[in-house]
Amino acid sequence: MTGGAGFLGSHLCEQLLADGHEVIALDNFLTGSPTNVEHLLQHDGFRLVRADVTEYVHVPGPVDQVLHFASPASPIDYLLLPIETMKVGSIGTLHALGLAKEKGARFLLASTSETYGDPQVHPQPETYWGHVNPVGPRGVYDEAKRFGEALTMAYRRTHGVDTAIVRIFNTFGPRMRPNDGRAIPTFIRQAMQGEPITVAGDGSQTRSVCYVDDLVRGLLLLLRSDLAGPVNIGNPHELSMLALAEQIRDLVGSDSEIAFIDRPVDDPTVRQPDITLAVSELGWAPQIELDEGLRKTIAWFQRQASDGAAA
Ligand code: NAD
Repeated sequence: MTGGAGFLGSHLCEQLLADGHEVIALDNFLTGSPTNVEHLLQHDGFRLVRADVTEYVHVPGPVDQVLHFASPASPIDYLLLPIETMKVGSIGTLHALGLAKEKGARFLLASTSETYGDPQVHPQPETYWGHVNPVGPRGVYDEAKRFGEALTMAYRRTHGVDTAIVRIFNTFGPRMRPNDGRAIPTFIRQAMQGEPITVAGDGSQTRSVCYVDDLVRGLLLLLRSDLAGPVNIGNPHELSMLALAEQIRDLVGSDSEIAFIDRPVDDPTVRQPDITLAVSELGWAPQIELDEGLRKTIAWFQRQASDGAAA
């Protein structure tokens, strides 16, 4: 697993170990942290290796599955790290595919709903080719992922590597960083601190957010299938950013005011997965209600804050 010390990577490592697999996590801790997998280190089946996958990927012995998750993923991260983002999406993906080819392993690429850009088709099915601005600031992430998808298909067609592409829609849960700039951790942190909750634009732009446990279940179903994808995995429950901010404020029990700030450049107006394919081919659909997922995430942020205060 590349990016194993990140938000999604750490949850995947946890589930793979629980399912009886051995896991080697490769991570350079650019946007992730060893603390995310600290609790797994005493597990015999787990190894954490500090490695930058844009330099090389080497794993001794047999490997059955390669999950390529390394990449800055939040807008704050990839806008700050544009070249690292493009390198890990291109050279990093090349190296991860090379490992899968060498080992005869199944390969799973963590792609993104951002490949759809600011979509002109709503909701977005996998057959939609997207509406991405390659020269805008967000292009570094969107185009790196689109390149990664094309490279994955090239390895499949040219070298017969058993590949799968998942297009992940916005996912949230414990172990997101409070300052990573993504809406849910930002709103929770602001509500907990009684600061104004900053909503971009007029807050009418929509997102569809998936709780991490649902996502992990979908990813593992895809990994264990023989589908090539791309397959959308995400929660189709769509809501406006303003509604999301208000719901988080209520669940935290905060009296923060809502402050409207400028919309980022090329911020998508709408975003909702069409999950027909995942439902029919994988038998997957999200099961965790937004309210429940938010409560679990808020409880985790509150525990982190009280542990930090106690330390
Ligand atoms: P994250 O930043 O928490 O995790 C990414 C991990 O990759 C980090 O641990 C980071 O240190 C590592 N990394 C980055 N560059 C690396 C390199 N060159 N070599 C080795 N490790 C490197 O982000 P996340 O939210 O867990 O996202 C994981 C993957 O899922 C990413 O590929 C992201 O694009 C994709 N994704 C996530 C979401 C989401 O909602 N979280 C949505 C769509 C796609």
